[in-house]
Amino acid sequence: MTATDPPAAHVVLLATGGTISSRASAAGGAIASDTGGQLFASLGSSASFPVRVVDVFQKGSYLLTVDDMIAICVKIKEVLEDPQVLGVVVTHGTDTMEETAYLVDLTHNDHRPVVFTGAQHAADSASPDGPDNLSRAIAVAGSPDARGRGVLVAFAGTIFPAPGLRKSHTTSLNAFANPDFGTAGHISATGEVSIQGAPAGLEPLPLPGPEAGSPRVDLVAAYPGADSTLLHAAVQAGAAGIVLQGTGSGNANAKLCPEVAAATSAGVIVVTSTRVDAGAVIPIYGAGGGADLRAAGAIPSGLIRPSQSLVLLSLLLRLGTPPTRIAEVFAERGRSPDQSR
Ligand code: ASP
Repeated sequence: MTATDPPAAHVVLLATGGTISSRASAAGGAIASDTGGQLFASLGSSASFPVRVVDVFQKGSYLLTVDDMIAICVKIKEVLEDPQVLGVVVTHGTDTMEETAYLVDLTHNDHRPVVFTGAQHAADSASPDGPDNLSRAIAVAGSPDARGRGVLVAFAGTIFPAPGLRKSHTTSLNAFANPDFGTAGHISATGEVSIQGAPAGLEPLPLPGPEAGSPRVDLVAAYPGADSTLLHAAVQAGAAGIVLQGTGSGNANAKLCPEVAAATSAGVIVVTSTRVDAGAVIPIYGAGGGADLRAAGAIPSGLIRPSQSLVLLSLLLRLGTPPTRIAEVFAERGRSPDQSR
């Protein structure tokens, strides 16, 4: 089935690039190049549902901006205007899949599933994993059991919820983990979908229009010996928001903390997250630790990791959200799944 076929119940394959579409280039290095039509043609067997292909762009996801991610959200909303669409599969690079999938999840206001997938081996490798991942993702996107579950990521047979998703391995075919929110189910090689757990049931946020502009949000890390130079540079560069990747439960040090206080008094929103894989940011320590960061006006991200904190903060700033509400949204969305229900 192609974009010109008559409408009937179908899944849309929205292609954005990534390794799943990459081939060796004459210029050197693998480049995202295959179209959605080529990806679909690579499926050896027939798909579980009829598929219509929509190309957004062909880019490595390490090149995407938040504006590109918003463009993907806009395209998803456009294709869901067709009532014949059962669900959407987004093929995407794995590097920043956790960012785009989270942004779509935050703004998804439709019961039909959006399922992200990709590949670790390029399309022209000896053993590409893309076709199998794509075929399983199509089975999930068309499954009635996946409805009302928000945005899912189907990879190497496992289904993950988008919040909490992390790329956890640079090369393994099992590229993803979700240490805080767990998995949402599995898909067999023959396309049987089993979904478990309940969605968090949080209200979707609006998608900003082009008039929102692109407020700068920077990510700055705390590490042994870090001083305030990089944080200061972010403020000087005009950052409206900064995600501070703290150590442990969300700590910085006595040099970073006063710079955070200066930034927040100047109206910059600072969110404290952590480089640790699981567990919440909790303001405990003084001497430049998390308790001092909170006193300096930083907002603890709860369970939201730096990559997804950057996405949530970028979205809230585009929506013109007041600082007190930004803190509330991080508290609501950064809770453990048990507390959210
Ligand atoms: N390694 C990445 C991928 O799997 C490259 C990218 O994110 O585009 O697609």
